[in-house]
Amino acid sequence: MTEIPLEQHIAPSGEQMTMRDLASCPPPERWHDWVEYDAKAWPRKVEKHYAIIPTICFNCEAACGLMAYVDKETGRVKKFEGNPYHPGSRGRNCAKGPATINQVNDPERILYPLKRGGKRGEGKWERTTWDEVLDTFATKIRAAIIESRRDEVMYHVGRPGHDGYMERVLGAWGVDGHNSHTNVCSSSARFGYQIWCGMDRPSPDHANARFILLISSHLETGHYFNPQAQRIIEGKMKGAKLAVMDPRLSNTASMADYWLPTWPGSETAVLLAMARIMLVENLYNRDYMRRWVNWQEYLATEHPTELQTFDHFITVLLDLYTEYTPSFAAHESGLEEETILDIARQIGHAGTAFAAHTWRAATAGNLGGWQVARALWFLSVLTGSIGTPGGTAPNAWNKFVPAPFLKPSPSEVWNELLFPPEYPLANYEMSILLPYFLKEGRGKLAAYFTRVYNPVWTNPDGTAWIEMLTNEQQVELHAALTPVWSETAWYADYVLPMGVGSERHDLMSQETHAARWIGFRQPVLRVYKERNGEPVEYTFQANPGEVWEEDEFWIELSWRIDPDGSLGIRKYFESPYRPGHKLAIEEYYRWIFENSVPGLPEAAAQEQLSPLEYMRTYGSFEIPMDKAPVFTLNERELKSTDVEGAQVDKLSGKITRNGAPVGVTIDGKAYEGFPTPSRKLEFYSTTMKEWGWPEYAIPSYIHSHVHRDAINHDMGEYLLIPTFRLPTLIHTRSGNAKWLYEISNANPVWIHPVDAERIGVQTGDLARITTEIGYFVNRVWVTDGIRPGIVACSHHLGRWRLETGQGTDRWASALVKLAKVDDGIWRMRQLEGIQPFTSDDPDSARIFWREGGVHQNLTFPVHPDPVSGMHCWHQKVTVEPAHHEDAYGDVYVDTRKADMVYQEWLAMTRPQTQRPDGLRRPLWMIRPYRPAASVFKRDR
Ligand code: SF4
Repeated sequence: MTEIPLEQHIAPSGEQMTMRDLASCPPPERWHDWVEYDAKAWPRKVEKHYAIIPTICFNCEAACGLMAYVDKETGRVKKFEGNPYHPGSRGRNCAKGPATINQVNDPERILYPLKRGGKRGEGKWERTTWDEVLDTFATKIRAAIIESRRDEVMYHVGRPGHDGYMERVLGAWGVDGHNSHTNVCSSSARFGYQIWCGMDRPSPDHANARFILLISSHLETGHYFNPQAQRIIEGKMKGAKLAVMDPRLSNTASMADYWLPTWPGSETAVLLAMARIMLVENLYNRDYMRRWVNWQEYLATEHPTELQTFDHFITVLLDLYTEYTPSFAAHESGLEEETILDIARQIGHAGTAFAAHTWRAATAGNLGGWQVARALWFLSVLTGSIGTPGGTAPNAWNKFVPAPFLKPSPSEVWNELLFPPEYPLANYEMSILLPYFLKEGRGKLAAYFTRVYNPVWTNPDGTAWIEMLTNEQQVELHAALTPVWSETAWYADYVLPMGVGSERHDLMSQETHAARWIGFRQPVLRVYKERNGEPVEYTFQANPGEVWEEDEFWIELSWRIDPDGSLGIRKYFESPYRPGHKLAIEEYYRWIFENSVPGLPEAAAQEQLSPLEYMRTYGSFEIPMDKAPVFTLNERELKSTDVEGAQVDKLSGKITRNGAPVGVTIDGKAYEGFPTPSRKLEFYSTTMKEWGWPEYAIPSYIHSHVHRDAINHDMGEYLLIPTFRLPTLIHTRSGNAKWLYEISNANPVWIHPVDAERIGVQTGDLARITTEIGYFVNRVWVTDGIRPGIVACSHHLGRWRLETGQGTDRWASALVKLAKVDDGIWRMRQLEGIQPFTSDDPDSARIFWREGGVHQNLTFPVHPDPVSGMHCWHQKVTVEPAHHEDAYGDVYVDTRKADMVYQEWLAMTRPQTQRPDGLRRPLWMIRPYRPAASVFKRDR
């Protein structure tokens, strides 16, 4: 270490260092040797030399850029800062980005692969080798494939953190085994978007909007929160008005021009009333509606004897929505009529610069929540703001997923554990019902991988997951691939440590704004070693302990499943550059960067870099607009060769070839349109009608299971919102980040003062919150920031561990006793709250927080929406002062009641098993992992 006298501040390059050097981001040409003074040596000026290596944050889905500062003296990462060259995050991060350093240095982290010693859940762990893990799983999976049990291999992911990699692996294996967390997250919102436009997420151009409507707290914690928050503020600074629908005064709502605390589930009524106002007051984009809405199909089918003109369609629309008056919406939601009118008019005036987003929140909480997203998109359609500057695009227009080499054919198997007959339209896999399906004997799992997924803690009715995971007939072999201990890993056969955001390769792209980009996550210590001439064969050789990365794990596993290539699997994991040799992970990305990213090879060549070197250097790349346009892509005209030999439907303009829609003719021109059956925006969904839900063929209002009429305040009933996020925590992956837990370590139940008085509780008091199947005991926080009649409790907190020395990180978890005490009855009681502990990190002895929050999800039964399949999170509860025997953190669950609730919701479905076409699911609807079209048919 060099100590520099105060008067000499000379950078290694020989340049005089300036204050600016220390106050702004290092320029890339100096990333190989960046010099900063050691803050701890102050007032002396002691130089520290760093290699700066970009990577991508893995602490939420937004995929912001990070720069890892590798200390050249120690060879360790010193800190993480934002990467200003990343197009999405532009150098800025939320608290969770820099906290990656806590995760790297966490003294509680799992450093080696572990194998259980005793029974599942007994907590006896032994260190094992990666070889042993790979051989065990390869044998099991190979047998399942050879014996045509291809629905017994399941990969169940929480946070994917990559685009397309795992779908390729599962396709190569020929299994239908992709399961996700999406039906506790977003499948409902996705369904609402998909049924309109064939794409299932919104991508608002907030920065250029004139009016922004958010349902939920996107600015503060929502989807792509940091990149979108920046642009919402940018839009506001340019004059945009912001409205936030949320019954809770979130930080986002506090920044808004309009806080709209709707009664949960009533959002659809408000949005449809706004739509009606815009129609009545002629504030809609008439030409856009005429051209792009499938009104011809609607009139021809539903009103065949009436005038088939656009004007008549508008007349019918007004008639259809006649009951959605401001007064009706005000009655349902509790908002003022004037506010509804005012905002509808402002949206109408914003026109094509109206940006809107909903995710989780109302869509995730309510029965029929998908109609919230559908009604919100209706406003975007009315304003003609689909994919316009300042409007809202479908996600696929702003996301770029490059193709890998040698893509496997879709698998020839349909797994009914994922897409069962009761839910033919489910937007994603029926993930939360897996324990019930296995208990009913619908199948079993030979090899089960949970990856960055903690269903025991996260999902409703977590004890059902404990029972499933401890049943070796239902789940024969289970590995938890995870960067951190979790309540689920505790019940696995193997716990496999995987890298955090600076310890792994991934390729990501997100629809953060009106552009397309890719971000390259990389294992920075491996890259650092390789730059210094130290070859690394496997990433775990450069990471702490033997922490690996999934990419290489799957390559190795695939080679062991098919060692001689006879199953046709191995070829997908052979190098595209060295035929017959095992794929090196660098080659996988090298091929993509050289062949699949428009503009990247040229941009790299300008800097005398290969495409891979470019991505290793900058960590991200924005696709030039001329190579990947992002606005109004439905208006792309078809070439004459595209329409040659195709049929054009006279009425709707739909162009089909061999029965498949390829485009649409509007005003004499052939356009690509939207990926829907009509190629237009489907106000009218024949799919809904044909698949058993004719009453929902158009956007309409479904009374939620927690509609106001279902809650009897006189009986002490309230609506519990359990879905809101804290901006500083990461679902169940922040237990290893001490800074984040220092900031957020309690999740009291929000109660309005009027309700608190009625219940007889004050801030800090314990209350018992009783659901349909049990109760939990938590403190209350009395606040005006919540609507009367509603209570709210954030998730992320209330982590537990079952043993003193291992399991969920001690920064975050209480030591508990969790046991089945009686037939169907489970109880949890905290034995000890969070305590200081001794470790290599002196901060662990300084922990001052004790309670760490209360777990609630165990007390929720499953509520699968019969259409979208989404778990409807909101709960009808009673709230009362804690009983004398209650203690903070108590949880009580009656699983017999949970089974009854499951049956009640299952009975709401309308299985479509007798269709003449034999289809299990509409062919046009997306599936996250899509098997061959042939297996969409039941009788082949
Ligand atoms: S918004 Fe998400 S990706 Fe970005 S820094 Fe925060 S946690 Fe990381």
